[in-house]
Amino acid sequence: MKPAAVHEFYRRLRELNPEPTTELKSVNVYTLLVAVVLSAQATDVSVNKATAPLFKIVDTPEKMIALGEAGLKNYIKTIGLFNAKAKNVITLSKILVEQHGSQVPRTREALEKLPGVGRKTANVVLNVAFGEHTIAVDTHIFRVGNRTGLAPGKTPLHVEEKLEKVTPPEFKRHAHHWLILHGRYICKARSPDCWRCVVAEFCTFKPKTPAPDPAEAKAKNNKKLKSTPAKKENLTIFPRSGLPVGPKK
Ligand code: SF4
Repeated sequence: MKPAAVHEFYRRLRELNPEPTTELKSVNVYTLLVAVVLSAQATDVSVNKATAPLFKIVDTPEKMIALGEAGLKNYIKTIGLFNAKAKNVITLSKILVEQHGSQVPRTREALEKLPGVGRKTANVVLNVAFGEHTIAVDTHIFRVGNRTGLAPGKTPLHVEEKLEKVTPPEFKRHAHHWLILHGRYICKARSPDCWRCVVAEFCTFKPKTPAPDPAEAKAKNNKKLKSTPAKKENLTIFPRSGLPVGPKK
C-alpha cells in the first residue's frame, strides 16, 4: 500500500473512533495486566464477565496472593485454560511483590519475564497502561494486516514489524486498537463486511463481500428470531413474521 493510502486508511479509522481503547475492563494497571493474561485465546466479553466480581475484591498483587490459586480458579473457571492461567497469575503476582515493589514494570524485557506474558501481552500493557506506541498483533490484526495489504507477513512478528514501519507517527498510539476493532467488527474472519468498510478502496482483498440482499437478510433475521430464546422468555412466535408477539398463555 502506498504511503498516501496508508495515511488515508488510518485517517478514516480515526474519524470513526478518535479515542479508541481496549474493551477489556480493569481498575488499574495491575488488573489490566491480569485481564490481558486471562484473555489469551478467550474473548474480551468472557474475561470481563469473570473479572467483574473478581476485581471488586482483588486489585493488588497482595490481595491476589491472599486469594490463592484455588480461590482465583473459582472466579475464572468459565475462561479457557483457566488452570494454567490461575497458576500464572498467582506466580506473576508473587514476582511483582518480590521484585518490582508490587508495581507492573514498564519495560518489555521485565514484562516478558512474567509467566503468561508474551510479546503480545507486553505490547498491550505498554500501549494501554503506559501510552507507548506499541502494536500488539493478535489474530484480528494479523488478518487485517495480511488481507488489506497494509502489512503482509507470515508471522505476527513480521506483521508487527511491518506495521511499525508503515504506520505514520501520528497514528501509532492508537493503531493497535483501530486495527483490532476493525478486524473484530468489520473485517471479520469468516466473511468481512466489505460493503460497509470505510477503507475498502485501499484494500487488496478480492472479491469484496457485497451488501446482503434485503430479502435474504430479512429471511435470515426471521430464522434467527425463530430460534432465539423466545421460548425461554415465555413468548409466542407469530408464524408469518417470526416476531415474538407476547407471553404464552
Ligand atoms: S474491504 Fe473487506 S477485506 Fe478489505 S479491510 Fe474492508 S472489510 Fe476487510
